[in-house]
Amino acid sequence: MRFTTRVIHYAEEPDYGRSGDVIHPIHLSTTFARTDPEEPTGGFEYTRTSNPTRLMFESKIAAAENGKYGLAFSSGLAAETTILASLLEKGSKVIAHEDLYGGTSRLFEKVFTKFGITYEKINLKDPRNLESIKGLYQMVWLETPSNPLLGVIDIKEISRIAHEKGALVVVDNTFATPALQNPLNFGADIVLHSTTKYINGHSDSLGGALVLNDDTLFEKLKFHQNAIGSVLSPFDSYLSARGLKTLELRMNVHSSNAMEISKFLKDHEKVEKVYYPGLEEHEGHRIARMQMKEFGGMLSFRYKGETKSFLKRLKYFYLAESLGGIESLIEVPYYMTHSSLPMEERIKLGIDDKLIRVSVGIENIEDLLEDLQNSL
Ligand SMILES: *Cc1c(COP(=O)(O)O)cnc(C)c1O
Repeated sequence: MRFTTRVIHYAEEPDYGRSGDVIHPIHLSTTFARTDPEEPTGGFEYTRTSNPTRLMFESKIAAAENGKYGLAFSSGLAAETTILASLLEKGSKVIAHEDLYGGTSRLFEKVFTKFGITYEKINLKDPRNLESIKGLYQMVWLETPSNPLLGVIDIKEISRIAHEKGALVVVDNTFATPALQNPLNFGADIVLHSTTKYINGHSDSLGGALVLNDDTLFEKLKFHQNAIGSVLSPFDSYLSARGLKTLELRMNVHSSNAMEISKFLKDHEKVEKVYYPGLEEHEGHRIARMQMKEFGGMLSFRYKGETKSFLKRLKYFYLAESLGGIESLIEVPYYMTHSSLPMEERIKLGIDDKLIRVSVGIENIEDLLEDLQNSL
């Protein structure tokens, strides 16, 4: 089965014995009755441990990423917390790409360093930087394309180097989505998603997911998913599964709209620079072509004019954090999504008040271009 056929049909057969419903029901029950005290009768005991609707979504997201196992959480950060708490211990070291979702950096710095886990940020766009790390490390963490600078990282090369050191590779695939990029195919050990973004796709459900192939890692993560307890609710599992079914269709439009907008912005006199991996002049374009089917719906650009008044003039691009919904959103990472990074770090990375990030929606492209033209 190809992608959309797979995510529509996998783990969702009509319930012929009972109602015949073609859509998996939302199982709200928190507990499941049994006929034998030794064994749960239908395989389920308690919803934190396992729930039929969540299991349906977990099976679909695994299928979407070409992976064996899926696990769903109450947010992307809950999924991240479960990885770190489950697979690392006091003294472990994480090497992370320097350009990361702000909340991920905050989780490392403000929460996990308290428990004796160290982490170092380096530029993974050049794999030689990883190769030159002398000591041992247990985990490599990256996003590609990255947030907010749309840097592209060679997953295959990074995985090769990390595996020589016996380290695990975690790829946050939130920006690319499984419709455009499958990191497990390139050697990553764990794929992470904030399903809040493109997978649910309609800005109305918070969630996270992990996909992986290794049996031992899965046992550990599954144990901690239940032990920590930050699981995706049945209703959000249903919404996320519903979103996944139209993911590929939406990503095609997000990608073509973002490509048109990038080309338009790049030639505009008020724009200094556009960051979009689909542009041939983007430094990561060649690797993006190898790893991704299309280049996705996220782009950033540097504006030469007065940022605040430009944002006020826009009609269709709402000024808001988050991304990946059907509606276009725009934001200034310096003030908004990345404000938790120390000022010097933001400036060093090029995240200042002239950098604008866009989550290009699936509205009509002519309307979006007119809105930008008028407002620039
Ligand atoms: C939003 C986001 C997260 C965090 O996910 P939540 O669902 O908000 O907890 C992690 N990584 C990336 C790339 C994100 O965009």
